[in-house]
Amino acid sequence: MPGMSYKISEEVDFVVVGSGAAGGVIARELSQAGHSVVVMERGPHLRQGDFHHDELAYWFNDEITKLESSPPQSFRKSPGEKASSWGFQSMLYAQCVGGSSVHFTANYWRFHPVDFHEHSLHGDIPGAALADWPITYEELEPYYTKVEWEIGVSGLAGAHPNEPFRSKPYPMPPLPVKSSGVLFEKGAFELGLNPFPAPMAINSVPYDGRAACVHCGFCIGFGCEMGAKSSTLFNMIPQAEATGVCEIRTGANVVRVETNQKGRATGVMYYDMQGEQHLQKAKAVVLSANGAETSRLLLLSENNHFKDGLANSSGMVGKHIMFNGGGTAGAFFEHPLNEYKSVQVTRICHDFYDTDPKRGFYGGGGIDGRVMFGPIAYAAFAGIPGEPGWGNSNKARLQQYPNFMYSSTHCTSLPVETNAVALDHENLDIYGLPGIELTYRDHPDDLATTRFLVDRAAEILEASGANKVWKNPVYEQSFTAHLLGTCRMGNDAATSVVDKYHRTHDVPNLFICDGSSLVTSGRGQPTETIQALAFRAAEHISRFAKNGEI
Ligand SMILES: Cc1cc2nc3c(=O)[nH]c(=O)nc-3n(C[C@H](O)[C@H](O)[C@H](O)COP(=O)(O)OP(=O)(O)OC[C@H]3O[C@@H](n4cnc5c(N)ncnc54)[C@H](O)[C@@H]3O)c2cc1C
Ligand code: SF4
Repeated sequence: MPGMSYKISEEVDFVVVGSGAAGGVIARELSQAGHSVVVMERGPHLRQGDFHHDELAYWFNDEITKLESSPPQSFRKSPGEKASSWGFQSMLYAQCVGGSSVHFTANYWRFHPVDFHEHSLHGDIPGAALADWPITYEELEPYYTKVEWEIGVSGLAGAHPNEPFRSKPYPMPPLPVKSSGVLFEKGAFELGLNPFPAPMAINSVPYDGRAACVHCGFCIGFGCEMGAKSSTLFNMIPQAEATGVCEIRTGANVVRVETNQKGRATGVMYYDMQGEQHLQKAKAVVLSANGAETSRLLLLSENNHFKDGLANSSGMVGKHIMFNGGGTAGAFFEHPLNEYKSVQVTRICHDFYDTDPKRGFYGGGGIDGRVMFGPIAYAAFAGIPGEPGWGNSNKARLQQYPNFMYSSTHCTSLPVETNAVALDHENLDIYGLPGIELTYRDHPDDLATTRFLVDRAAEILEASGANKVWKNPVYEQSFTAHLLGTCRMGNDAATSVVDKYHRTHDVPNLFICDGSSLVTSGRGQPTETIQALAFRAAEHISRFAKNGEI
């Protein structure tokens, strides 16, 4: 019975805040297990037909990434500085049903076993708070497989010599290779590397009642009008609604988790679209509002019992934000590649995934071939270092758009305690509540890793026969879309926010599962891991509920 609607006064089993990559999975799993669920989503419920091919709207005018009710953001590099408000979303995420899974690029990389125990391998790294996860790759593997089959991921199992163990192949073959993929592969093979088809959460063939990709090219930053991108908007959310026990309440801006004298969560306070405040009561609360917004919500929920914010006895809420570092090398080729068509990425390379002590710094990552920009963003942003952005050389650059590609790198970010999201009491939202202040400075090893990988990316482009190759400068604080680690999981309540089952150490009926749960950043593309954690968390949370252990 899609369209289920609970009375606001009615207590439900679970309220889930956020309907994005993690929240969508949690909602479907809990409702299919028979629990009554209300999902609170700040943004609207857009449908396939609402998405359109307008680069200005999505990339320049914040369509789907900013609402009147969104918290303002500010930024500073270090705790001593005063944060300045940028006026735009420096931490980028979609605010609509499906969250950022609506407009993401859909690269779906499993973490490798090594990602879960790097502190044991490398020990303390000065200036960072590297920690082991309380779970292993082996424990998460069945849930990675679940993501690939339930969410819908295309790819080729066994394509890379260092591929971690998998219990099942991908449910769909890889997407057709693009010009960038062919050239990337050529260059990488020349250098003795092992490029392979990119695993993507995009249908290469019709799958699970959804169409195959038609290669429209308006993919990164856009919603998919075909429903071929495997967003929770198209799979988990309708399946949750179909249970008849799950309501997706849109335009619901949650501003507080309420607790009682016993220190238990009783529900969430939210503003509806008319600006009216309501309490949605629930037996348990799950926060899946993403790595920036979940922390804000916990900090906004301080009260006499929880003076430093909810679930924050460790002081770790908001700390250790990680973004995944990254940089690019660019190239022009003799012939047009017409890369503006289709999905972003079809070939990647994981040969530099592991930390290699010989490099002299911690970190590793992956490299891909792609175009990144539509024509307007290319004209605005894809300059060539040392060449003027005007006159004849700029005209020549613009004319070269069809012949252009990037090789893009994605790498580790170390957890640093002072890198944090916190409340900004000087920058208020429309309800008069504090916005989000980001403090962030790259760890030197992250910058060294990025530079190392950009050098490798440029070598691949050179070896692929490009006419011209350049390395873009590695910028500091080039954060945006991956919001990780701010309520990290761990066995020790003094150094982490949630336990290995995503239950907060401080509030027994409050759970957190989204990008904030990650202990380390992986090498980029964290969403498959976020969703594997969500499938696993939901299974345990439902079991706790059924056993009366919440
Ligand atoms: C342009 C772009 C490209 C990307 N490409 C990739 C990629 O190729 N591969 C990859 O792995 N990752 C990619 N990502 C990152 C990926 O989208 C995120 O990692 C993932 O969506 C995070 O999932 P989440 O559940 O933590 O949060 P989200 O998906 O952000 O969901 C959070 C939801 O909570 C809602 N919400 C927040 N606060 C409140 C509140 N107070 N009340 C009610 N609702 C609230 C939001 O509106 C949102 O819908 C990309 C992101 C962007 C922006
Ligand atoms: S390229 Fe394919 S997956 Fe991406 S938006 Fe277009 S049709 Fe959808």
